[in-house]
Amino acid sequence: MRKIVILTGAGISAESGLGTFRDAGGIWTKYPLEDVATPEGFARDPVLVHEFYNARRVQAAAAQPNAAHHALARLQRDWPGEVVIVTQNVDGLHEAGGARGVIHMHGTLAGALCAGCGHRWVAPETMDTTTPCPACTRPSARPDVVWFGEMPYFMDTIFDHLASADLFAAIGTSGQVYPAAGFVQEATASGARTIELNLEPSAVASNFDETRFGPASRVVPDWVSDMLGLRG
Ligand SMILES: [Zn+2]
Repeated sequence: MRKIVILTGAGISAESGLGTFRDAGGIWTKYPLEDVATPEGFARDPVLVHEFYNARRVQAAAAQPNAAHHALARLQRDWPGEVVIVTQNVDGLHEAGGARGVIHMHGTLAGALCAGCGHRWVAPETMDTTTPCPACTRPSARPDVVWFGEMPYFMDTIFDHLASADLFAAIGTSGQVYPAAGFVQEATASGARTIELNLEPSAVASNFDETRFGPASRVVPDWVSDMLGLRG
């Protein structure tokens, strides 16, 4: 076993104080995703959408990586093969925890995207409907995050990694959002072993060879220790 591909979702950042989306009390129960996470919602009320992401950007900037982020960075550093981390999260906690080359399939709060010309730049802490694009000068800045109805980023790269993976691990994902929820089948079809680490079984848990349930800050470091041969 050489190459490990890891998919992470909101569950890995929950213990860093960043909310999950679909659980009871999750972000989508407070802010309807149709309003704040779709191109139509942004067209309808860009002020609300900017306020929502400004608040999340501030919150994410103040958050600290937890033991699960640190453990994955250690796996990447110490595993005698390739470890690719793909995340659905728009926070930067993997990088803050020491991970390298993280693939942000749903974009990042740290990025701004021009809805007019497609230019990307580092997001200011707050954006609004007057924020100009540095390339075309139009006031058409939006968060560089992938909204519902939009194609996730880097899909060709991700499927190439899944096709060459020996082990696929999904950590803290709901299994309710495609295409990410289909990664386990893609990896299985390519001959990879699969494991789910989650607080509770995801919608696609039965598709995995192995499952481990509990808080990410416990099950992820334990799994990494097992992988690195550090536990009995
Ligand atoms: Zn522009």
